[in-house]
Amino acid sequence: MKVLLLRFGELYLKGHNRYVFENMLINNIKNMLAGEEFKLSKTFGRYVITDYKEERESEIIEKLARVFGLYSLSPADEVDADVKTIENYVSKINCDGESFKVFVKRADKSFPISSMDFAKKLGEIVLNSNKNSYVDLYSPEHEIYVDIRINKKAYIFDNIIKCHGGLPLGSSGKGLLLLSGGIDSPVAGFLMARRGMSFEALHFHSYPYTSELAKEKVITLARYLSKYIGKIKLHIVSFTKVQEEIHKRCKSEYMITIMRRIMMRVANRLCEKYNLGAIITGESLGQVASQTMQSMTVTGSVVDEIPIFRPCIAMDKEEIIQVSKSINTYDTSILPYEDCCTVFLPKNPVIKPTIKQAMHEESFINVDALVNECVDGEEILEIE
Ligand code: ATP
Ligand code: MG
Repeated sequence: MKVLLLRFGELYLKGHNRYVFENMLINNIKNMLAGEEFKLSKTFGRYVITDYKEERESEIIEKLARVFGLYSLSPADEVDADVKTIENYVSKINCDGESFKVFVKRADKSFPISSMDFAKKLGEIVLNSNKNSYVDLYSPEHEIYVDIRINKKAYIFDNIIKCHGGLPLGSSGKGLLLLSGGIDSPVAGFLMARRGMSFEALHFHSYPYTSELAKEKVITLARYLSKYIGKIKLHIVSFTKVQEEIHKRCKSEYMITIMRRIMMRVANRLCEKYNLGAIITGESLGQVASQTMQSMTVTGSVVDEIPIFRPCIAMDKEEIIQVSKSINTYDTSILPYEDCCTVFLPKNPVIKPTIKQAMHEESFINVDALVNECVDGEEILEIE
C-alpha cells in the first residue's frame, strides 16, 4: 500500500506537554490538507498518511512540506513486516546500472534478523535482480530504506524529503508582523512561524505619495505567507499625515527615528486591541541607519509590555535573500514600488539617536492624536 511517512523532530523535547504539541501538529496537518482525501494515523513515532489519491501525491507532499514541526517525509510502500514479504518486495526494485545501499532500521526488536544482517541479505537480493549494479556504502546513487516498526509493518522507500522542522504553528502564540514591501519582513514572518508563532500583519502606506501598486505588492507578499500560516489578517494603516507632520515639525535627521517610534506605538496598540503577544520586524543589525543598536533602543523603548522579535537581526543580507527565494517572496519584494519609509527620506539620518532627543523632537507634534488616528483609521483585509 502506498503511504506517506511523516517524521517530526523537536516535539520529542517537550516532555509531558508533548501531547499538546502533537495535537496541534495533527490539526495543522489536517488544515493544510483540507480539501484532499486522506487518512492520518499515528504509529510509534511516525505519522502515516494513507488512502489518498495517488495523482494528488505531489501536491500533498508540497503542502505537507509547509507544515512546521515536520522534520522530513517519505513516499513509501507499506508491507507486512515479515522476512519473506520484505525480501520479495526488494527483489522487484529496479535500480539497474546504479550504485546502491540498503539501510535497515529495526524499531521492532522481535524481528528475527539483526538490521546489519538483514541489510546485507537484502543487498544480495538487489544485486541478483540488477546485474549491472554494485554496492557503494559511502555515496550510493540509489538508497533503499527499510524501516521496520512495532506495528508489524515495514516501510520501504528511496527518498527522504526535508521539511522545515520547527514547532507546530500556534504553539508559540500569535504576534503582529510589521510587513513592508521589502525583502526582510516576509522572511521575518516566515522564521517566527517556523518557531510556532502565528501572526497578523500590519502595513503602513503613504498614499498618495506611495502608489496603489505598493499596497498590491504587500497583499501579494501576505498571500505567499498565508501558504504557511493560513488566512492572514492584514491591517493597513495610512501613515501620510504622520509623515507630513514629522516632516514639517521635526529635525530632518530624526525623521526616521520618530516615524519608527510611531509605527511601534501603533503596532503596540493593535497588539493590545487584538490580543497579540509580540511585534515582529525584519530588522537586521547595521543594515541601515535605523537598524543600529542605538536606533533599535530608541524605537523599541516605546514598547514595554510585549517583546519585539527581530529574527533577521544576525543574518547577512545574502542569507535573508536565500530564505526569501525559498518562500517565493523574493521576486515580489524586489519590484520597484516605493515604501512609505522612502518618502521624505532625509539625507543624513541619525545613526546614534538618543531617547532624550527623540522625546524632544516629539514634543513638536501631537503623538497621541496621530497614533489614535492611525489605529482608528485602519482597514482590515483577509488574505488567503
Ligand atoms: P524590509 O526589507 O523588510 O522592508 P528594510 O531593510 O527595508 O526591511 P526598513 O525599511 O528600515 O528596512 O524597515 C525595517 C523593518 O520595519 C521592516 O523589516 C518592517 O518590519 C518594518 N517596516 C518598514 N516599513 C514598513 C511599512 N511601510 N509597513 C510596515 N512595516 C514596515
Ligand atoms: Mg523597507
